[in-house]
Amino acid sequence: MMHNFNAGPSILPQEVFKQASEAILNYNNSGLSILEIGHRTDQFQAVMDEAIALVKELMQLDDQHEVLFLHGGASTQFFQIPMNLLNENEIAAYTDTGTWSSKAIKEAKLYGHVEVVCSAKESNYNHLPKQFTVPKTAKYLHLTTNETIHGVQWHDLAPFFEAGVPLVADMSSDILSRVMDFNKFDLIYAGAQKNIGAAGVNMVIVNKSILGKVNRKLPTMMDYRQHIENGSMLNTPPVFAVYVCMLTLRWLKNLGGVAAIEKINHQKAQLLYNTIDSNPVFKGKVINKEDRSIMNVTFVLENTDLEKEFLTLCKQNNIYGVKGHRSVGGFRPSLYNALPLSSVQVLTDLMKDFANKKG
Ligand code: PMP
Repeated sequence: MMHNFNAGPSILPQEVFKQASEAILNYNNSGLSILEIGHRTDQFQAVMDEAIALVKELMQLDDQHEVLFLHGGASTQFFQIPMNLLNENEIAAYTDTGTWSSKAIKEAKLYGHVEVVCSAKESNYNHLPKQFTVPKTAKYLHLTTNETIHGVQWHDLAPFFEAGVPLVADMSSDILSRVMDFNKFDLIYAGAQKNIGAAGVNMVIVNKSILGKVNRKLPTMMDYRQHIENGSMLNTPPVFAVYVCMLTLRWLKNLGGVAAIEKINHQKAQLLYNTIDSNPVFKGKVINKEDRSIMNVTFVLENTDLEKEFLTLCKQNNIYGVKGHRSVGGFRPSLYNALPLSSVQVLTDLMKDFANKKG
C-alpha cells in the first residue's frame, strides 16, 4: 500500500478510484463509457446536478450563492475575478501570504488598483501577517485561506468577516476540510485536484449579487453570469473531472460531511506536528503555531545533509510525495481529506525512528 502525501493532484478515496474506473468501462450499466456520453444527455446532467447539490449541502450555502464548475484551474480565477469585479479605476485589497496570493496579486494588477494590505514576503512567508487595514472603498478583499507551498493557514477568519467589504477567497488547498461560514464569502474558488476530485476542473462559488457591476466588456467564457445562466455548460465541461468530483463529494457526505472530516484532519495534523516538535532532528518552517496549516505541513531537517537519507527511507516505506515544493525545498507532506490517519502514523513512526538514530 502506498502512503500518498502529494500536494496535488493528490490522494482521492480508493472507492472513488474504483467507481470512476468502472464508469469508464460501463457507466451505470448503460453499455457506454462516461467518456463517450454527450454532456447534454440526461445522464450527464444528473451528474452535474448532483455535484452542485452536494456542494450546496456540504457547505450549507444559501440561495444567493451559485456553484460553478469551470475550466482553467485556480490560476484562471486569478484574472477572471478582477475582470468580473474590478473596474480599472477601483481598488481591490489583497493579503500577501505566499506564492499563491502573490500570483493572484500579479494578475489583479492587470485590471485595476491593487492595495496589498499586509505581506509576509520579507520573512519568506513563515507566518501570517495579521495586522491590516482594508480601505472601505475596496471592491473586495482577497485572501488565500491556505498557502499550499508555505504551509500557513488562516484559522481565525473573524478579521476578514469584519472588514466590511466583499470577501474573495482562494480555498484551493483547504476547501471542504473544515467548517466555516461559507455564506460570508462572496466568491470562493478552488482547483479540484486536492480535496474535491480530479484535476481539470475548478469550483467557483459566487454570490450573484456582486456580479454585473463592471463596465468592461467580458468575453462570454470569462463572464460568471453566462456560466450561471447555462448551468456550467456554456461549452463542453470536463465531464470526467466533474464526475470524479461528484463521487468524492458523495464519499464526503457518507463519511459525515465537513465537520466529520475536520476532526480527522486535526488528528492527522496534530500527530505530525507533535512528532516534529518533539524531535529536534526536525524543525517546523512556520514560526507561529497558530498559523500552521492542517493540510500542508512544512518542515526541514536541522542537518540538511540527511535529507537524501530521509527521502530514501520514505521511499523504502512506500511513503510518497513528502518533498517540499521545488521553490522552497525541505519537506511538505500534505494531509488532504482522503489521506487516512494510518498513513500519517506510518510516516510519524518512521520519523521517530529516524530521530532516535540521528538525534
Ligand atoms: N491556489 C492555490 C492555493 C494552490 O495550491 C494552487 C495549486 N497548487 C493554485 C492556486 C493553482 O491551481 P491550478 O494549478 O489549478 O491553476
